[in-house]
Amino acid sequence: MNQVPAQQLSDWLDNTLQARRFKDYCPNGLQVEGKSSISHIITGVTATQALLKTAIERNADAVLVHHGWFWKNEDPVVRGTKRRRLALALAHGLNVFAYHLPLDAHPTLGNNAQLARVLGLQPERDADGAPRLCGPDDLIWLGQCPEGTTLESLGKQICNALQRPPLLVGNSQQNIRRIAWCTGGAQGYMQAAVDAGVDAYLTGEASEPTYHLAQETGTAFIGAGHHATERYGVQALGQAIASEFGIRVDFVDIDNPI
Ligand SMILES: [Zn+2]
Repeated sequence: MNQVPAQQLSDWLDNTLQARRFKDYCPNGLQVEGKSSISHIITGVTATQALLKTAIERNADAVLVHHGWFWKNEDPVVRGTKRRRLALALAHGLNVFAYHLPLDAHPTLGNNAQLARVLGLQPERDADGAPRLCGPDDLIWLGQCPEGTTLESLGKQICNALQRPPLLVGNSQQNIRRIAWCTGGAQGYMQAAVDAGVDAYLTGEASEPTYHLAQETGTAFIGAGHHATERYGVQALGQAIASEFGIRVDFVDIDNPI
């Protein structure tokens, strides 16, 4: 079985995702050091106890996730669920790799790029092929839906692709030609999408004011699920690791209705 030194994988991931470019709410990269050599990785959206237990059952050497640990707004003490997660990783020598914003933003492997692929959205691109972005830290993508798309038809398509019904705010028959999207909990960025003049804004979650902003601007809002919109970047990254190093990488989807 092929193996890769944990340090080499860590360097490759940091490089590929340009992790140091981002100011983030959590450390990006190797968050918990485990075994020094890696032949099997479990990927998932969030480094929960359930994901760690699956990785341990399958004798994996590492987990790679979008939502890791040690968030800036959390209590830093190691108690409760945090202690239990950490204890599992340390007891079994599991490396924990996490990439938050770098994995949202990557132009081909990232959550936004991959969600466009899954939903059939056509990203707008600059002359050099780079995706056209807007909003805080350029995290929002801009693109087009196929001609004839309405809010209702887009909702059905999202439901099929993501296997869960989205929250739709707007007139079901309104045409959606130009759309902006940002995976996860980016409802707070909706004004930037409105300013960009799109017909609809898609993200994972909604907050109470989101509804009013959509109603009062006429920009449709689509809440397609935080977990559901962030399943695809880590899978694309896992495939890239498997082809680069020839090691085994398996995605485990532990569903989350939010
Ligand atoms: Zn997220």
